[in-house]
Amino acid sequence: MLNYLEAHITDHCNYKCQGCGHFSTLAPKKNVDVSIFERDIKRMSELITQIHHIRLMGGEPLLHPKVVDFLYVTRKYYPKMRISLVSNGLLIKKMKSNFWTSIKDNNIQFELTVYPYEHSTKGKYTVIDQGVDLDYYRNKYGVRIKVQKTAAFFSLINLRGDSNPKKAMGACRTIFNCPNLYEGKVFICPMTANINYFNTKFKTSIPGYPISKTGWIDIHEEGITTEKLLKHIDTSCSTCKFCTENPTYYKWKLNKKPEISDWISPDGWLE
Ligand code: SF4
Ligand code: SF4
Repeated sequence: MLNYLEAHITDHCNYKCQGCGHFSTLAPKKNVDVSIFERDIKRMSELITQIHHIRLMGGEPLLHPKVVDFLYVTRKYYPKMRISLVSNGLLIKKMKSNFWTSIKDNNIQFELTVYPYEHSTKGKYTVIDQGVDLDYYRNKYGVRIKVQKTAAFFSLINLRGDSNPKKAMGACRTIFNCPNLYEGKVFICPMTANINYFNTKFKTSIPGYPISKTGWIDIHEEGITTEKLLKHIDTSCSTCKFCTENPTYYKWKLNKKPEISDWISPDGWLE
C-alpha cells in the first residue's frame, strides 16, 4: 500500500508561478507519451496494488491534447483508488464535452489549484475571479470539482550542497511527500525528477535525473520488488544535500522571467 503517487502528463505550463516546485516555468513543451505512461502505470499496479491517492498533473495537464486518455488508462489499472487531475484551470472554458464525460465516467476528482489574481488587491483568485462558473460543470456533467486556494510557496534549494540529506528530507517531508512516476521511474520527489530544467537554465550541476542515478528507481528493472520500491521512496539521496534543512515560505507571485533566486532558500546561497 502506498499513500500517494503523482505523475506528470506535461512538463510545461501556461502559468509562471515564481519558484514552481516542478520547474515547469523552465521546461520546454513536453507531453508525456500515453503508451509509455500506460506501460508505467501497469507496472506500478503489479508492484503496488493499492495507492490511496493518484494525482495526474504537470506542468499544466490540460495542455496535453490526449489528457482524456490518461484518465481512462489510470482508472483501468487502479479501478478502486482515488484519482485526481490537478490543474490551474486557465483552460477550463476551452475543454470539450468529452473531457468532462471522461472525468465523470472514470470517477476522477478535478482539482483546481487557484492562485491570487495577478493584479488583485482584494484577495481574488484566478479562474474564480475570471468568472468561471464551476457549478455549471458540476451540474451539467455531474463531476466533482475541488478548489484549492494557494497563496504561499516555499524555497528549497541550497546551492552549496552541504545539507545533511536525512535532515533535509525530514524537513521537506513536513511539507510534502510526493513520489513521482515519470518515464519508467519512480522518484522520491518532483525535485529529483525535474531538476534538469533548473540545471540547464542556470548552468548548475545538482544531481538528479537524467544525469545522476540518484533519487529514482527503474520500475521495469529486473529484480525490483514492492519492498525495494517502498524503501526507495523513503530514502534520502545525494540530491537532498542540495535542499535546505529549513524551508522558507514566501508569498505566491508570478514571475514571467524566472530567476535563480526564485528557488534558492535564504540560507542556500554560495558563500
Ligand atoms: S500553475 Fe504554477 S505551480 Fe503549477 S505547474 Fe504551473 S507554474 Fe508550476
Ligand atoms: S531532493 Fe530530498 S530534500 Fe529535496 S525535496 Fe526531494 S526528498 Fe526533499
